Amino acid sequence: MIQIQPEVKRTEELRQLLQQASYAYYVLDAPIMEDTVYDQLYRELQQLEIQYPELVTPDSPTQRVGERPATHFTSVRHNIPLYSLENAFNIHELQGWDQRWRRQLPITDSVEYVSELKIDGSALALTYQNGVLVRGATRGDGVTGEEITQNVRTIRSIPLRLNFDGLEPIDRVEVRGEAFLPLEVFKQINEERQKAGEQLFANPRNAAAGTLRQLDSRIVARRRLDFFAYTLHIPGMDDASIANTQWEALELLQRMGFRVNPNHKLCASLAEVTEYYKYWDTERLNLPYMTDGVVVKLNSFKLQEQLGFTQKFPRWAVALKYPAEEAPTRVENIAVNVGRTGALTPLAEMRPVQLAGTTVSRATLHNSDRIVQLDIRIGDTVIVRKAGEIIPEVVRVIKELRPADTEIFLMPTLCPVCSQPVVRESGEAVTRCVNASCAAILKGSIEHWVSRDALDIKGMGEKLVHQLVDKGLVHSVADLYDLTEEQLCSLERMGQKSAQKLVEAIAQSKNQPWSRVLYGLGIRHVGSVNAQLITEKYPTAEKLEAAKQSDIEGIYGIGAEIAQSVYQWFHIDANQALIERLKTANLQLAGAETTTVSYSNQKFAGKTFVITGTLPTLKRDEAKALIQKSNGKVTDSISKKTDYLLVGEDAGSKLEKAQALGIIQLTEAQLLTMLEDE
Ligand SMILES: [Zn+2]
Repeated sequence: MIQIQPEVKRTEELRQLLQQASYAYYVLDAPIMEDTVYDQLYRELQQLEIQYPELVTPDSPTQRVGERPATHFTSVRHNIPLYSLENAFNIHELQGWDQRWRRQLPITDSVEYVSELKIDGSALALTYQNGVLVRGATRGDGVTGEEITQNVRTIRSIPLRLNFDGLEPIDRVEVRGEAFLPLEVFKQINEERQKAGEQLFANPRNAAAGTLRQLDSRIVARRRLDFFAYTLHIPGMDDASIANTQWEALELLQRMGFRVNPNHKLCASLAEVTEYYKYWDTERLNLPYMTDGVVVKLNSFKLQEQLGFTQKFPRWAVALKYPAEEAPTRVENIAVNVGRTGALTPLAEMRPVQLAGTTVSRATLHNSDRIVQLDIRIGDTVIVRKAGEIIPEVVRVIKELRPADTEIFLMPTLCPVCSQPVVRESGEAVTRCVNASCAAILKGSIEHWVSRDALDIKGMGEKLVHQLVDKGLVHSVADLYDLTEEQLCSLERMGQKSAQKLVEAIAQSKNQPWSRVLYGLGIRHVGSVNAQLITEKYPTAEKLEAAKQSDIEGIYGIGAEIAQSVYQWFHIDANQALIERLKTANLQLAGAETTTVSYSNQKFAGKTFVITGTLPTLKRDEAKALIQKSNGKVTDSISKKTDYLLVGEDAGSKLEKAQALGIIQLTEAQLLTMLEDE
């Protein structure tokens, strides 16, 4: 019999686990493992492979930088690869890095380091041709990324055109930096997702990565991503004395119009780097964005060049990470909540513990996959993590501390509220109650209907909604409009006066516009902005009911998933009956929108454009969409009414005609600059 060494088995296990984690993170945008855990396991594998070099395989995660990108964006090869950085987890390891490069390149002169905060976002590679942004790409596996130029253009802190004032014009500029979501924005997005019945983002980094890979750049624009630039590549820039150091490069980036994180520091010694690291350990919690460490680079480009790269990392830089805020506590119960969409969410109820300045006693366990992965049980001691504004999460179970009598936790097969069987569709992580009359779903949908962004019924709080459902007074949102003062008075702590006020507030909600009614219906994926877009195209419920799925999808800003969800909703008999009842109750199921969607602007209001020729980077319909977004009109033929001709290469007779009529001509770059100016 062949003896399988435990090391062989362990390396195989680690490899598989890390590959799965990497795939979930890069391809699916649905991480299954925390970074610190990934790092630890990665290092364990690395150690084993150093100890037993014969165990290294070409497909080991240690042999490459990442995973292959997903398929729905065009893959592009980076002009210069995006290396990842070697990690150090404490000062001792930082010193180790310093000694290693010094052994390779013994120098006696003093050395400068640049310390920068490591922003917890998603890396981007930007290419500028003659000063104009021509390409934005995700990091991908470092060699190949995804082309997301359209999405990148929506990030306000990324200049569409570089400022070369006082500089010689430069043919090609490559810039790298971090796209991230400010904590405030992250919170808002999750609140909106909660309202729209969508799964929440675990942290700002995942939210940023997911946003960048949105196929609909309008959604990207709404998400308000931000960007800090940190790397500048200009072919031969140190030879030409454009920049000789990282410090100068950061200054140059700012001059060219980029946002550079203001907290970088030039350090004359490793001791100064250490001081910087220690200072920001606590101070970073006051920043409006997430950071997870400090990036330390040798300042001199000459030194950088001499040291070069290992197979994976630059030798002249290191990422010095901060430990996450974690603490052990005990799981006292695992509860299961049922939301408005019927989704069952397991929730760990824990002995209260202090983390990042707050008391944490509950953490979401997301779904049954996560429970299986953690193998979390009631009675377990777990590590929970919370940093800044982030939802507390269970990082791992300390299995050594597991009591003898624990049982594997299984998601219920019956809804904990209505006791009807739950469903988990193949390919979905979420388990759902699909009983349309489930009290939890009903309560959730009424709470949504009365909420501020929907029908905005004042005085109708959660407790009241629960009472109305539990007493059987309300079986659908339409029943709200039949409620009488008398019925309301029969409820706990409800006087004549408040009952009267409530009936008035309910009646008032009949004046809310059609877009709010549509949003209030709580159709999956239909947030308030989507509801406005849909009602702009379909000014009545009848028209929307009669629409084909492909027509709904044709609305700029509405993707296939949303269109399908809306189409299906309107083709369920019970929902059609609900619409009829709302109509009878005199709710607004028609009417033109008067409010404009907040992110469009009036810049080109009243202006007419014609487009001719091939534009350098934009497709014609993309240019058209950009103009329309600023309320401009795009027509096919030149007339006296044309204000601007957008001219690309190989322009034909339209250009001649425009010249004859004295119409202003624009290049793509000029158009983009006009759009950029506020
Ligand atoms: Zn149920």
